[in-house]
Order: sequence, then structure tokens, then C-alpha cells
Amino acid sequence: MSDKIERIKCLIIGSGPAGYTAAIYAARADLKPVMYTGMEPGGQLTTTTEVDNFPGYPDGVDGPQMMVDLQKQAERFGTQVRIGMVTEVEFSDKVGGIHRACVDNSTWVEAETIIISTGATAKYLGLPSEQRLRGGGVSACAICDGFFYKGQDVAIVGGGDTAAEEATYLANICNKVTMLVRGDQMRASKAMQHRVTNTKNIDLRYNTEVDEVLGDQVVEGLRMLNNQTGEKEEIKITGMFIAIGHKPNTDIFKGKLDMDETGYLITKSKSTKTNIPGVYASGDVQDKIYRQAVTAAGTGCMAALDAERYLAEVESEEGEEVKTTKKVEA
Ligand code: NDP
Repeated sequence: MSDKIERIKCLIIGSGPAGYTAAIYAARADLKPVMYTGMEPGGQLTTTTEVDNFPGYPDGVDGPQMMVDLQKQAERFGTQVRIGMVTEVEFSDKVGGIHRACVDNSTWVEAETIIISTGATAKYLGLPSEQRLRGGGVSACAICDGFFYKGQDVAIVGGGDTAAEEATYLANICNKVTMLVRGDQMRASKAMQHRVTNTKNIDLRYNTEVDEVLGDQVVEGLRMLNNQTGEKEEIKITGMFIAIGHKPNTDIFKGKLDMDETGYLITKSKSTKTNIPGVYASGDVQDKIYRQAVTAAGTGCMAALDAERYLAEVESEEGEEVKTTKKVEA
């Protein structure tokens, strides 16, 4: 077997809506993309059931089915989808430089461009009852799943901007929203806090934590604990939303790419460019605000277009250099 390292024009890391959309565009632009899927092929959507807010599916679509469809579409244009986890990267900071990625701690590949779409992982409380009822009424995305609880009583945990935004979103759809904030104040911006306190059907509880999510197959209630008084209280709910933050999957890029204090990759305004030429970021790994499948897909498209333009510029610069050298030699 040859020891020659494989050289790829466009390497895509991660297989959510951002990665697959990048793959579709990159493949159609003849960049012959290779995608490594990561540990959870298909990304976060494979852990949801029905996706009702992706345009083009009037009757909704099963999350895992949507990812199978996206994979088929990416493969139709020649994307190679490979199961594997990128465990290490080495970037070149030169325009036209070659980047390297190690797959499963064993095989190195070289790439002219890299599109990072490794996503973010929603944080959960870690209670056994919460984990058991994921998909049975416990969700980490109110925008995705809130609609299923129309007219019902639900609860949301968290006191940041996401929790505040999602609480007001749910309040529009649901009968009552009980919001549990573990401290004596919210971390959300003042404007968001005002929205919460001015919404009549949000019952805001400070110093309150989840003691237990109640229900066998589906969520039926919640036992809350006041961490100041030790008092416990049970309420009836059918939906339980966790909004305590996300962790962007960027550990392997630490010290190598610019990121914010929570680890989200920083892209240059109105583009998917990172601080390294030829390396792009799309989807939730660079978006802590919108975090939707459709916005992730949009930035995946942008990343492929950015990569394609970059390669065209590098090729034309190389062509110019060859011409100049020939002139000098003549
Ligand atoms: P944050 O990290 O800002 O907030 C997390 C919240 O969850 C905090 O209130 C925290 O409590 C609470 N929390 C954490 N762990 C637990 C736990 N185990 N049990 C109970 N509560 C817990 O995350 P967000 O997702 O809200 O926001 C992430 C970033 O995205 C922020 O910078 C935010 O400003 C930004 N954002 C901006 C939006 C916008 O501009 N429209 C919309 C959404 C997010 P505590 O405070 O006690 O630590």
C-alpha cells in the first residue's frame, strides 16, 4: 500500500445541514468534496423527530430522514461521504497553503480548503428523568418543538438570552410557561428580561431548579426545588424545554482559529471566512444566535461559494506568477 497522503481540494468536517449543503454546492462546483461525518452522522437533527419549519416540506419531515435525503443529494453530485472523526488539524496561514487533518487519530489527509461544520451540542441538566424523556416531551429547542405544545402548559429552564427568547416564543403558543432560573437574577440582556416580565402567561421562578421531570413515557409534570428554602412543588406540564446553553464543537481548533470566549468560531463579516485563508466555518459552530437548520444550510452554501472563489483566486495568482517567471526567464 502507498504511504502517499491523499490530497483533497475541499474537505468538509461535519454532516449536519450546513455540511451537506456545503457539499452539494462544492460538488456542483467540481471541488470534489470529501466529508467526514463525525461521531453523530447527520448532526443534531437526527436527535429530533419531526422538522416542520424547513421550507419545502409542507407536511413536515422526520429529522433523520431529512439528513438521509441531504446525504443522497450531496452524493448525487459526487461528494464522498466518509464515516470518521477529524481529531487533529494543522493549518497553513499562507494564501494557497495546504492544510492537514488527521482522521480517527490515524490517517492524515491534505486539503486546499476546509469547511468546518461541526455544529454545537445542546447542554442538558443530566438528570436521569430528563434524559429518559428526551423525545417524549423534553426538548432543547423551543423554536423546533414548541408548536407541538400549542395551548398546553410547559416549563423552560435557564436565565440567559436563549431561555428568555424561547420563553416569550412559547408564551405566544402555549397556555402557560413556567420559567425556572437557578439564581436570583437572569443573565439575559435587560431588554429580554423586560420582555419576559411583561409577558402575562410566563410564571417566572427565581432560585428554582428541576428536582425531577415527572412522567413515564411522556412528560406529565415537573417537581421544582427552591434552592433557598428547600421547598418542593409539583406542577402539571406536557413539555419541558432546556435552554441552558450550547457547547460549540471546536475543541480541536483551540489556539488555531479565532473563537469567542465560549468557543464559537469567528467569521469575517458577511462571509464564512475564518482567520486562516482557505478555512471556512458554517452552521451552528459559528452561530450562537439563530441556530436553525435553514440558517445552517444557508451558511453551508456560503462556505462552498467562499471556498470556490478562494481556489479560483489562488489558481489565477499562480497562473500570473508562472507567466511572470517565464517573461523574466525569456
Ligand atoms: P448562556 O450561557 O448565556 O445562559 C445559560 C443560562 O442557563 C444561564 O442563565 C445559566 O444560569 C443557566 N444554566 C446553566 N447551567 C444550568 C443548570 N445546570 N441548571 C440550571 N440553569 C443552568 O446561554 P444562552 O444559550 O442563553 O446564550 C448563549 C450566548 O448567545 C449568549 O452570549 C447570549 O447573549 C447569546 N444569544 C443572543 C441572542 C440574541 O442576541 N438574540 C439570542 C440567544 C443567545 P447562571 O446564570 O446561573 O449561570
